[in-house]
Amino acid sequence: MTNSPWPAISLGAAHARLTGPGAPFEIEEVLVRGQMLRVWKHAPATAAEVFAAARAFGPREFLVLGDERVTHDGFARAVLALAAHLRACGLQKGDRVALVMRNLPEWPVVFMAGLLAGAIMVPLNAWWTGTELAYGILDSGARFVFADAERLSRLADLPPCVGRIFVTRAANPPPGVTVLEDVIGAPASWPGLPDGTMPDVPLSPEDDATIFYTSGTTGAPKGALGTHRSATTNIFAAPFSVARNAIRNGNPVPDPAAMPPRIALLAVPFFHVIGSLSVMLPTMAAGGKLVLMHRFDAEAALGLIERERVTMTGGVPAIMLTLLEHPRLGDFDLSSLTLATYGGAPPPPDLPARIVAAFPNAVTGHGWGMTETSATCTTHSGRDYHNRPDSCGPVLPVGRLKVMVEDREAEPGEVGALWAFGPNVAKGYWNRPEATAAAFQDGWVKTGDLASIDAEGFCTIVDRATDMVIRGGANIYCIEVENVLSRHPAVAEAALVGLPHPQLGEVPAAMVQARGPVSEAVLQEFVGQYLAAYKVPVRILISPDALPRNAGGKLVRRELARAFVS
Ligand code: AMP
Repeated sequence: MTNSPWPAISLGAAHARLTGPGAPFEIEEVLVRGQMLRVWKHAPATAAEVFAAARAFGPREFLVLGDERVTHDGFARAVLALAAHLRACGLQKGDRVALVMRNLPEWPVVFMAGLLAGAIMVPLNAWWTGTELAYGILDSGARFVFADAERLSRLADLPPCVGRIFVTRAANPPPGVTVLEDVIGAPASWPGLPDGTMPDVPLSPEDDATIFYTSGTTGAPKGALGTHRSATTNIFAAPFSVARNAIRNGNPVPDPAAMPPRIALLAVPFFHVIGSLSVMLPTMAAGGKLVLMHRFDAEAALGLIERERVTMTGGVPAIMLTLLEHPRLGDFDLSSLTLATYGGAPPPPDLPARIVAAFPNAVTGHGWGMTETSATCTTHSGRDYHNRPDSCGPVLPVGRLKVMVEDREAEPGEVGALWAFGPNVAKGYWNRPEATAAAFQDGWVKTGDLASIDAEGFCTIVDRATDMVIRGGANIYCIEVENVLSRHPAVAEAALVGLPHPQLGEVPAAMVQARGPVSEAVLQEFVGQYLAAYKVPVRILISPDALPRNAGGKLVRRELARAFVS
């Protein structure tokens, strides 16, 4: 870093310098479904382009799970073998292929093979019950289903749309099911597969590619339909953010070829857009390595960071909080970690400072996005993030954000409904014209979040529109009360919910994960020191247990609210 005043360049000028003609993150405009979209000119725009980029890194390791290690070359051979098999099974362009597995090396193989063969991939939530999985398979009309043995055992009644089921890692595969290992072998044998050829399926950036189900905190899951372009737009998000930090700090734009390969500890599931689109695809395209875990466990994660010399982890704020809270944090060599990055749920504002204190070599990164925006929309990191720890950063220069207050655009700093636009925005909800019409308009998606954007373009998420408690007409943003509670030394984490109230409609109540002894009255008084009396929770449940979260790392408020009924 230079000693010159910071920032060395304004945000607008930094974006212009990095995206102009001849610049590394050059942007061009393309007409897509009647809208002029700004797109990364040099980013891979289809799965085939990502695959070609990754294949060039042949002997480098790509996937690690326990003692299993797969190189980019072994991965590429398995992908091409499976893609050829799917075509031979009659897979047609646009067929849906459901994928339900824990984070196994087979997951990205199936995902890429399906895409190269022309399928629309449907990653399903591996934590779902059999009924929920059957719903996703039926709703998407999947012709092919890939499952690991554990998930297959949950799939008792498969909808009639399914023509073929593949299973992996099954000790006793049931009859009528194709064993994936019979087609491509186990990961250790992938390097011995034939070289393979690309399927003869032309892919365009605007072709349908993915259906990701919304996590369902607000009702029945809906499938967000994304394209190759919307999925691959993520690939430039993190490198752009790194480059922006560099020039904001007065340094030259770093040369990606001169940087050591990224080693990412994947602590979130592949089936969420964060796992697959914002971590897996960029790591694949850049020749990096993904370290997988059977399931997230903080001590095992710390051990893997040390063993694999992991350079990047995070995913959602809860992961970083769990690592930071771990009593054996100091026993591990975590010096390799240069990037801790997360999104998907609001992080407490003190998180970046805590990360830097625990991981001295790490830059902290934060971003906002959602299933309907195929993951990342904003990126925020380094000094910008430490200066504005409440913000999720400015929108990536390929996209646009606006805040609407009824029918007008909000003034800078004014809170309203957040809308997002750009090449990463989904086309709509699969087979749901009414839900699509309600949420998507002229390329914009109404995000359902309440936010403000300041005069420089930094966005701050205030709350989910539905995560607001309205007490007798006065709005209480859950996040505001949660942030105050989290500042109390005995509080590890806090969540606010609305309890029904006969006169006021709703009153706020909180659930707290405590690190030590503390009483309800002490916490109420603490909140009252910082916030107006109407925002102080009328009840606070205190427990040593972690708060319930869904697969995307978000608090499940309905479940929390039920705790107050008993
Ligand atoms: P999902 O579609 O499951 O990824 O959920 C998207 C929602 O998660 C958004 O609409 C936000 O409410 C929330 N979210 C995502 N990223 C952030 C963030 N950085 N800060 C606050 N909330 C976030």
